[in-house]
Amino acid sequence: MRCIGNLGIRLLASAALVVGVMPAISADSPAHAAEQPHVIFISIDTLRADHLGCYGYDRETSPRIDAFAARSVRFEHAFSQASWTLPSHMSMMTSQYPHVHGVENDGMSLSRDATTLAMVLGDEGYHSAAFVSWVYLGKRFGFHKGFREFTELLPPKDKVDSATTAAFKAAQVTDKAIEWLKNKEHRKPFFLFVHYFDPHINYDAPEPFKTMFDPDYDGPEGVGTFGWLRKYIKGVHEKPNKIEPRALEHAIALYDGEIRYTDEHVGRLLDAIDETVGLKNCLIVLTSDHGEEFNEHGSMEGHQWTLYDEVVHVPLIIHPPDRTAAGTVVQRPVELIDVATTILAWLDIEAPATFQGEDLKPWMDGRTERVADALAYGEIDRFNKKQFVRTDRYKLIHTDDIGKNKRGVPVQAGYELFDIREDPTEQRNLFNDLPDVAGPLMWVLEQHRRSRPEATTAPSQRRPKREVQLSAHELERLRSLGYVGGDEEE
Ligand SMILES: [Zn+2]
Repeated sequence: MRCIGNLGIRLLASAALVVGVMPAISADSPAHAAEQPHVIFISIDTLRADHLGCYGYDRETSPRIDAFAARSVRFEHAFSQASWTLPSHMSMMTSQYPHVHGVENDGMSLSRDATTLAMVLGDEGYHSAAFVSWVYLGKRFGFHKGFREFTELLPPKDKVDSATTAAFKAAQVTDKAIEWLKNKEHRKPFFLFVHYFDPHINYDAPEPFKTMFDPDYDGPEGVGTFGWLRKYIKGVHEKPNKIEPRALEHAIALYDGEIRYTDEHVGRLLDAIDETVGLKNCLIVLTSDHGEEFNEHGSMEGHQWTLYDEVVHVPLIIHPPDRTAAGTVVQRPVELIDVATTILAWLDIEAPATFQGEDLKPWMDGRTERVADALAYGEIDRFNKKQFVRTDRYKLIHTDDIGKNKRGVPVQAGYELFDIREDPTEQRNLFNDLPDVAGPLMWVLEQHRRSRPEATTAPSQRRPKREVQLSAHELERLRSLGYVGGDEEE
């Protein structure tokens, strides 16, 4: 839904979904499924695009991912649809914007009538399996919809109070996925989803990765843990502490160590895929649900509070089953909701009408012309209510005037417009200087606001929201990394 020209039609389609009009799924026969490529979808949580070598980073954080990108198609300007795990991953799986799939907050689960990528592939004869390593990708929220096998790799209850064991590490996740690959006969094509959590706070990679990029550090302990970072969170403290430059440098080195550690295991997974079914027989997607902030805009929480590029610009690398497009780099802005639509296009499966993403296959096939009105859109509605729209040059962010955010800190409402080409770190707000640029982008944000269920339908006509009750140990697990509860003022 990125071209301004067809925006109205797509928004109309999404509004129809809200009142329960479900367009039919493709009725293509699955007879040809046996010859179809396997589909592997790898999501590395909290991975900034600009911290990977193939996206220009100067540290050697990603030798295996860089080599994979060189034999794949890399999207230089890919944007997630939210800056935190739950709505962003749900957008990937449903090819819908957060306000359309409705899983925008902790308490919500995917609607029973929603259609996921795994469901469509299952209808086409695919055997699907998922390995996920964080609470927010669990069955609680509806992520298992359409998967034949769904494995939640979460540490036992009695370990959740220790932040370092809040999630399984990449080595264990990879072991499980490889075991699955080797034990299956794969008579049918499969859809394998693998989720890694490691670059997320706490930054605590095993050695030698932990000290790889800052071996001489001898400053205070605890840098890179949520407990240490929370005093620098602007969304929580009206006047957050100022982070010491050396500590910031060390936090970034620890984060980079997590990326390098994950890279090694992603490489191991790719090797196993090659040994078992052959990379040439696979369509492989590698991406992330959001980035991470390192004080670029005065906060160190990690993500979920803002929509600047450090938290929404993510890597997107797609390995086609034939190697024709290897090494292609696509410059136009794209969205993560495009991934599911593009996977189906590669398999010659018609996307359900509920999918809002665009088919990127023409660009993977070498289409190179500039798309002047290509847009990427995203939003958050949690502690703050914000939207962004990004062109290849400009970015407009809108913050709703909700007075104080849900942590009691006054919100700076209004618009921010950035010229990304001149100001890539989004420091100079040009909203009052460039009304001709801002106008059409404001219109785009307005159309999305108008397509929200609460704006288009009476309460009685809305799709019922499915609420989730989290257990005490799930809440504790989330609290250990700052997701729920109000303990930041301690
Ligand atoms: Zn995440």
